[in-house]
Amino acid sequence: MNTKVWKVDNYVDKLETNPQIVDAAQLLRDNEVVAMPTETVYGLAGNAESDAAVSKIYEAKGRPGDNPLIIHIAEKQQLEQFVAEVPEKAEMLMGEFWPGPLTIIFKKKPGALSEKATAGLDTVGVRMPNHPVALALLKSCGLPIGAPSANSSGKPSPTTAQHVLDDLQGKIAGVLDGGATGVGVESTVVDCTESIPVILRPGGVTKEQLEAVVGEVLVDRALTDEHEKPKAPGMKYKHYAPNAPLYLVSGTRAFIQQLVDEKRQEGLKVGVLTTEEHQAEFAADFVLACGKRAELETVAAALYDTLRRFNQLEVDVIYSEMFPTEGVGHAIMNRLQKAAGHKIINQ
Ligand code: AMP
Ligand code: MG
Repeated sequence: MNTKVWKVDNYVDKLETNPQIVDAAQLLRDNEVVAMPTETVYGLAGNAESDAAVSKIYEAKGRPGDNPLIIHIAEKQQLEQFVAEVPEKAEMLMGEFWPGPLTIIFKKKPGALSEKATAGLDTVGVRMPNHPVALALLKSCGLPIGAPSANSSGKPSPTTAQHVLDDLQGKIAGVLDGGATGVGVESTVVDCTESIPVILRPGGVTKEQLEAVVGEVLVDRALTDEHEKPKAPGMKYKHYAPNAPLYLVSGTRAFIQQLVDEKRQEGLKVGVLTTEEHQAEFAADFVLACGKRAELETVAAALYDTLRRFNQLEVDVIYSEMFPTEGVGHAIMNRLQKAAGHKIINQ
């Protein structure tokens, strides 16, 4: 399959009438799948009402069938089509964070949407992305759109159109290139089907921000205990992993350097994942700075690109610094721990 690339760089008013968006929207109505930029990462969009379209998403990504898709909408009224009830706390969260990087889990209307899109669950995760190209595409096609991250399953999520092509060229109908995404880590997933909301996946909206709006918010136990079964089915899978083994190191930079030296003496090529502040302090084969530690948002924005850059290098082993878990640091550490397969070295 020839994968079309549409460059959308002038964000004019009425973007939904832009010929490239109209072209992509028609492909969605024809039950083809196309990648779109969102404010978090690139998503692989398909008609969530069609088994055929949803199957193409799972196939292109190699995504396990028990990992449900997040449904993307452009207007709140679309919820009525497939959500059974909208609890008050969900209403408050939508008012504050939509459009934005927050996915809300609702009870699903029986029979609505493709069963494959929700992996047979009686709940559905929904979000309204805050990106002009995604919103224009969603408005133009008028469909509820299933859109997981547009990467091969297990790889780091894509934050540029080139990342999408690296993984999915020839497997999808097209990609709307809207430049690099902003937040860089996926949406926060919060379950609003119980009286107290529960975070199933940390992301662009922090626990503190949620609590400021709805009071108490819980965190799924699986996020702190790797032996617990996660309530978001996707959280159990290996994810975001670079090709070379990645170790998180809890210790000083001198300790990390010692680990690097030991491996280099064994003849291995060693990479270090650090930040701009500390880049000059390490002597290794490849030292990559992932944003600025003093501004964790920049680390989130650069994370997946940095993990993917290691795949372009002849690196045998990677050591990464750790990050504080406040604010967006919670999402950063969650993704890094998964990327490392929970391999942590303590000093
Ligand atoms: P991705 O689309 O790759 O960013 O992943 C979507 C995440 O949302 C996965 O971890 C899914 O398991 C989770 N998710 C989607 N729908 C539901 C649902 N109905 N209940 C719980 N988790 C969900
Ligand atoms: Mg994903």
